[in-house]
Amino acid sequence: MTTKNIFVLPGDGIGPEVVAPALEVLQKVASKTGFDVSISEGLVGGVAIDATGSPLPEETVAQAKQADAVLLGGVGGPQWDHLSTDKRPEKGLLGLRSELGLFANLRPALAFGPLAQASSLKPELVANLDILIVRELTGGIYFGEPRGIETRAGQRVGFNTLVYSEQEIERIARVGFELAQKRNGRLCSVDKANVLEVSQLWREVVTSVHGDYQDVELSHMYVDNAAMQLVRTPKQFDVLVTGNMFGDILSDVAAMLTGSLGMLPSASLAASGVGLYEPVHGTAPDITGKGIANPLATILSVAMMCRYSLDQAAAADAIEVAVSACLQDGYRTEDIRGHSKDQVVGTQAMADLVMEKL
Ligand code: NAD
Repeated sequence: MTTKNIFVLPGDGIGPEVVAPALEVLQKVASKTGFDVSISEGLVGGVAIDATGSPLPEETVAQAKQADAVLLGGVGGPQWDHLSTDKRPEKGLLGLRSELGLFANLRPALAFGPLAQASSLKPELVANLDILIVRELTGGIYFGEPRGIETRAGQRVGFNTLVYSEQEIERIARVGFELAQKRNGRLCSVDKANVLEVSQLWREVVTSVHGDYQDVELSHMYVDNAAMQLVRTPKQFDVLVTGNMFGDILSDVAAMLTGSLGMLPSASLAASGVGLYEPVHGTAPDITGKGIANPLATILSVAMMCRYSLDQAAAADAIEVAVSACLQDGYRTEDIRGHSKDQVVGTQAMADLVMEKL
């Protein structure tokens, strides 16, 4: 039986509370669908600062690089807020992303039917929505040079550079096409090719890469239109692929279509194959230790891990079906409670219910 090495970084706040039950779900689904997991644990963020003085100990980086996949809870909390920027817990997460070369960020917007009421859009527009935004994470305007603020002709001017190489566009495009192949076979590339040269190159390269993925239907959309379409008829999309800044904005729009932070998983992938999986939410200091954190975002991150790093699509499907069944039965954690007839359960109880359904 194949064994997958999972490196776990529970982190701070509710991180350990949501990671532990998510690992139980992983072990259960592995035994059901026929693979083994070997789990090792490390330190990142505030707990790493307390134990070693660094938010990202070298040992953590080394172990993460050896793993098939990394599962992270979250980092940060008020007890470390007084530290200077380069010593804060967040530095550990940013450092890990860069050490692992995680250039592709995957953010699904999944709106489970029973939670459609939580969206700010009409329930029928979002019920059973399942779209995936693929954002380029290590290039574009957030990293381009030159950048700065300087005085020109007597007044201050701020400037940044939006730059993408063919190679950067090609590798993120391939991620988009390959994910579309594993899903519903449609990829929409989002750019601003009517105004920006970098987007014209983006469109050219994506179109040429399409030659290798003829089974995927490719479309192109300007970013302003994409933002509008996401809130008008979000279900028209399957996979969207876009650059760093457009993806930053559109993935938050897509996240809010579902209306609940405690339900949102994410993945970041590297060319080497190792992936980092984490809930979109933070460490929720206000509810830490109360046993009420919603574990579903982390459990759904484990489903993404099974699909994208462990090559265990059946396990991923099983987890998603089990989560959906729990919601269908009316089980809710406090953060997603809607109707008075919902059955409100705590963190471990929700994970136990998911495992029962598996
Ligand atoms: P947050 O996501 O931690 O919390 C926002 C609100 O959502 C809170 O009311 C919280 O109780 C609730 N919430 C979040 N996750 C929940 C869950 N699983 N179940 C139930 N309720 C949940 O964001 P914040 O309050 O802005 O930040 C708190 C700390 O987390 C800060 O130190 C911040 O830097 C850190 N943070 C870390 C990450 C990360 O590690 N990726 C991301 C965002 C914030």
